[in-house]
Amino acid sequence: MIPLRLSCSRLPIDTPIVLRLRCSGTDDQFSARGNDVWLTRAESSHLEFDVQGFTLSVKIEDPSEIDGDVVLMFPQQTTLHRLIRANSAHNTLLVTEQCDQACIMCSQPPKKRHADMFGVFSEALQIAPFGAAIGISGGEPLLHKEALFSMLLNARRTRPDLLFHVLTNGQHFDKEDMKDVEELDPKHVLWGIPLYSENSCLHDRIVKKNGAFARLMESLALLGRSGARIELRTVLLRSNVAALEDMAVFVSRNLAFIDYWAIMQMENIGFGRRVWKEEFFDNSANFAPIARALDTADIRGIETTLYNFPLCSVPEPYRRRSLRSISDWKNVYMAQCGGCSARPLCSGFFAWHPKNGAFSKLGAI
Ligand code: SF4
Repeated sequence: MIPLRLSCSRLPIDTPIVLRLRCSGTDDQFSARGNDVWLTRAESSHLEFDVQGFTLSVKIEDPSEIDGDVVLMFPQQTTLHRLIRANSAHNTLLVTEQCDQACIMCSQPPKKRHADMFGVFSEALQIAPFGAAIGISGGEPLLHKEALFSMLLNARRTRPDLLFHVLTNGQHFDKEDMKDVEELDPKHVLWGIPLYSENSCLHDRIVKKNGAFARLMESLALLGRSGARIELRTVLLRSNVAALEDMAVFVSRNLAFIDYWAIMQMENIGFGRRVWKEEFFDNSANFAPIARALDTADIRGIETTLYNFPLCSVPEPYRRRSLRSISDWKNVYMAQCGGCSARPLCSGFFAWHPKNGAFSKLGAI
């Protein structure tokens, strides 16, 4: 796994600081903001940077791995948090761990407390690489709607090159928010919103919130009317797989304005680990219900995609829909993947995928 935290020496600071690590001489248009710290010395096991006359020693060998990274450091700590990695297309800012749902397979179970980092994240966005795509996730980001929109709108004005993918449970959009949504510009923001069933009772049961389905439909309608780009997301579960085809019909009838529908495999972490035995659906053993849903969506003009499906677990005619969706820092491959010609196109596995398997039929292509 790629480390998202690096050991470092302590700096004499009393508030969190955001820095950009610079190792090479290449300059760019965002370098004059005072956050840049330059490499002064490279030893075999660590790199040294000059931070306003103080030495910051970072435990890593290869400067090219962190050149241009935007990092966060807290007072009294000896850890650098890599907020935005310059060499990665998979950067996500976790803006809160609070959530008003408790989805049975949630990979990032909610916490009660919120640490407000919006100011720090706004600063980090100013020195992000040109054209970077940044994920915004939680918890539920819209529980802190005012701060979230303020951060995104500020980035829209000052860094119009940035693209955002915001994951939200769709429980908190109001009519009054649509002005901000429109100002954000659909070309720059994609809203990733989960719907787990066309059956309202089942959806509410999966997200563990009464009335969630009805509130979600209100939000989706508002977003649809405002021209927002929407990625509808459905985690595949034993609970919902039988009705996946009905869901394709529902989406085409009621949510035809979405950009596309992503069907996603589960993660064996967080609450997902607790319900893995009951809810993991082995699509390598039975792809039929998924195929029917994809075909139905196709016929009805809904674009579909598959996330987190190892390519060899998907029948050949459907493989072109399967994307390399797992973020680089948590993406692994198994022993059998070594000689597989499809590996460059395959999503592989989450680092926490059960070692004793889960998919019954996998094999190099
Ligand atoms: S064997 Fe190939 S297709 Fe299957 S999971 Fe490994 S890399 Fe992907």
